[in-house]
Amino acid sequence: MAREYDVAVIGAGAAGMMCAIAAGRRGRSVIVLDHAGAPGEKIRISGGGRCNFTNIHAGPKQYLSGNPHFFKSALARYTPADFVALVDKHKIAWHEKALGQLFCDNSAKDIIQMLIVEMRAVGAELSLKREITAVEKTEAGFRLQTSDATISACALVVASGGKSIPKMGATGLAYKIAEQFGLTLTETRPGLVPLTLDPGLLAALAPLSGVSVDATLRHGRTVFREALLFTHRGLSGPSVLQISSYWREGDMVTVSIEPDIDLLGLLKAARQENGKQAAQTVLGHVLPKRLAQYLVEARGLASRPLAELPDKLLQGLVDGIQNWQITPAGSEGYRTAEVTLGGVDTNGLDSRTMQAKSVSGLYFIGECVDVTGWLGGYNFQWAWASGHAAGEAV
Ligand SMILES: Cc1cc2nc3c(=O)[nH]c(=O)nc-3n(C[C@H](O)[C@H](O)[C@H](O)COP(=O)(O)OP(=O)(O)OC[C@H]3O[C@@H](n4cnc5c(N)ncnc54)[C@H](O)[C@@H]3O)c2cc1C
Repeated sequence: MAREYDVAVIGAGAAGMMCAIAAGRRGRSVIVLDHAGAPGEKIRISGGGRCNFTNIHAGPKQYLSGNPHFFKSALARYTPADFVALVDKHKIAWHEKALGQLFCDNSAKDIIQMLIVEMRAVGAELSLKREITAVEKTEAGFRLQTSDATISACALVVASGGKSIPKMGATGLAYKIAEQFGLTLTETRPGLVPLTLDPGLLAALAPLSGVSVDATLRHGRTVFREALLFTHRGLSGPSVLQISSYWREGDMVTVSIEPDIDLLGLLKAARQENGKQAAQTVLGHVLPKRLAQYLVEARGLASRPLAELPDKLLQGLVDGIQNWQITPAGSEGYRTAEVTLGGVDTNGLDSRTMQAKSVSGLYFIGECVDVTGWLGGYNFQWAWASGHAAGEAV
């Protein structure tokens, strides 16, 4: 069976569906192909099932890329307000959480349904369970081979995502297609991912599994302040996921737990007031008790009353809490990473259209491109914006 379209999109994720909608609105005949059995599987599981679909603060500051200017044009031309207008048009209830993050009130499935309805409205065809076996350039455009069909299209948009969460259908196909057509790739690595600890530290911290605290995490000049979660594998929580995108193997991360609290002042005052108290008792008023116990025990101070602890020991204890230097052993990898850092080199793409500079009609959008956002709705905003930019150009 051979079929012809103006535009073929590989990947029915956030970027691919948005691109199909924008292209369809301009009268293009569009087919969206995906090997999965359902569209938008990552949207479905995102934001704890409620999809943090954008962030009202989305701007160049929250994105990482080999070229810090590349993403500006697309983000400026399709803004969080544009996506919110679409969500409102479909009467999907949403709310703002901390830090400008917008979530569905009910379910991430509302966003998937909205995209399907919009695609239908513009006549874009969704073709699921399609394994792409070959892609080739023809005089008129591109020819795609699937197990049971040949699809020809004037333009090919690659929106098949990155490597994160292979169980959810990630394959790295975009990188293969980029290489096939001579585009350069930048190094890929897992981003927004929990960090692991060496066995000794992991065993020591095991009693803290499940404890969550307010913390700043610093890597070089990059600082995030959000929750830190101790897990049975290492460290997680938003502040850890954020810093993981900047962290490299062997690098140190500085943790400051409850950075606004003057712990030294607190301990000294408690010592003066009642020197018989234990440090863990005092710290247990402002930190989770299990954590306070661990921190004091780790310094061998648990059995000594505060009166026996000179300023120097108290300062050392506080430094271990608010200037704690950790060298993570690694990360949990693509198995749990929310995104893939790196990918199709932006130098090979036109920042206005996402078209490959060297191959007319070939476009790359979404996570497969070397553009990665912070945690908090920024990655979907990139998917919508880059998808829209390509959809306006194909
Ligand atoms: C657990 C989790 C939670 C997340 N939560 C959020 C959040 O709340 N907010 C946020 O902004 N970001 C979130 N993200 C990140 C966000 O999901 C991605 O940035 C976004 O999905 C990227 O969109 P995309 O369309 O480029 O790629 P994807 O959504 O990955 O879509 C790619 C599509 O291509 C298909 N595909 C892959 N390989 C092939 C192939 N060989 N043949 C055919 N089809 C193929 C896949 O099946 C998939 O449908 C989360 C990610 C994860 C893993």
